[in-house]
Formats: sequence, structure tokens, C-alpha cells
Amino acid sequence: MASEQASFLGETGQLVRAVGRAMGVTFKNLLRRPITVRYPTVTRVYPDRFRGILALTYDPQTGEENCIGCRLCEYICPPQVIKVEMLKAEKRNFAKTFTLELYACEFCELCVQVCPTDAIIMMKSFDLATADRRELLLDKDRLHALGLQHEPSWATGNRLRDMQAPPKAAPEAKAGTPEAKAATTDPGKAEAKEPAE
Ligand code: SF4
Ligand code: SF4
Repeated sequence: MASEQASFLGETGQLVRAVGRAMGVTFKNLLRRPITVRYPTVTRVYPDRFRGILALTYDPQTGEENCIGCRLCEYICPPQVIKVEMLKAEKRNFAKTFTLELYACEFCELCVQVCPTDAIIMMKSFDLATADRRELLLDKDRLHALGLQHEPSWATGNRLRDMQAPPKAAPEAKAGTPEAKAATTDPGKAEAKEPAE
């Protein structure tokens, strides 16, 4: 009888301590400042490397569209949401039409990576929510307008390709230097001689 009483009291003590710990966490969080914000009235600062909605760009020097209508982005796009028609011109080509179905985009960034002229880029914003799916079928004008409206992300096609390029080979050792001598004496480094014809 005495052992049953002791076990009951032990379990009750454990329960009271557990409830006390849980209530402690609750009270601590009651006094904390909320971590949520009242979006869209209040917006968060995006991280530096944030990449969101896609847009087309203009050349800041000439004011011309950067897109040359090459269709590389169309070919690479996994869900095939880009359609481009090329307009051939005397000095350079343009995109006659350019459509992007943003509602089916995977945001994989492949189109940005292949673009030779940094014409298609991602912006530092995701803010394009709508209740009408048709508004996310973006044509050339809309894509250019988005490019002017939002801050561009750091990641252009040229920067991404530079980042992913294999490291350059070390420069060859000059004749007479210790490195060159080591290369000729070390059979592992010595070049194989061409067989005589
Ligand atoms: S981010 Fe990916 S899925 Fe979206 S348009 Fe570009 S290639 Fe297509
Ligand atoms: S956005 Fe870039 S990859 Fe796509 S058609 Fe234009 S120039 Fe070519």
C-alpha cells in the first residue's frame, strides 16, 4: 500500500513538472515580439541572393531590348513554358513575340543560365499574386515592364556561367626554372614523345 502511494505521488510530481515546463515556454513566447509581419502593408527585406519572378531587360546604354530572339531559353525550359519568335533585322535580331507562362514555371533558372545577352533575368521579388491565372501569362511588354518595376537579382546568365566554369589551368613553367626541370625529370610529368615516322 505504501509503495503504491509513493508511485502515485512520484507520477503526480512528474506531471506537475511537465505542465510547469510547458507553461513556462508558453509564457516566454507570450512576452516575445511577433516574428510575422502584416504583408503586404509591411514587407520583409529580401536576402541578397533571392531570385524570384522572371523579366526581360533593356540595354541601359542603348535602350534597346537585350533579347535577340535566339530561342535558347525556349529549348532549355523543362516545362516548356517559354515561346519565342525571332525577328530578323539588319544589325541584330530581336524577339518578335515572347511569352512566358509563369503559372507553370518551376523557377529552375535554366533560361537565365543559357541566355547569351542577359536578356532574361530573375528579379528580387515574388510579388505577383493574383486570383486570375490569365494574368500570369506574360507577354513581351509585360516581361519588360516587370524588369523596370522590380529590383533585378545579382544572377545574370553571364555571371552564372562564369561561376560554373571549370578553374583555368595553371600557366606552363618557363624553361630553366626548377618547376620545368622537375617536369622533365619526373616521368609522371614528362610529356610522351611522338613516335618517329
Ligand atoms: S525558370 Fe525554368 S521553368 Fe521557369 S521559364 Fe525559366 S527555364 Fe522555364
Ligand atoms: S531571352 Fe535570351 S535566350 Fe531567350 S530568346 Fe532572348 S536572347 Fe535568347
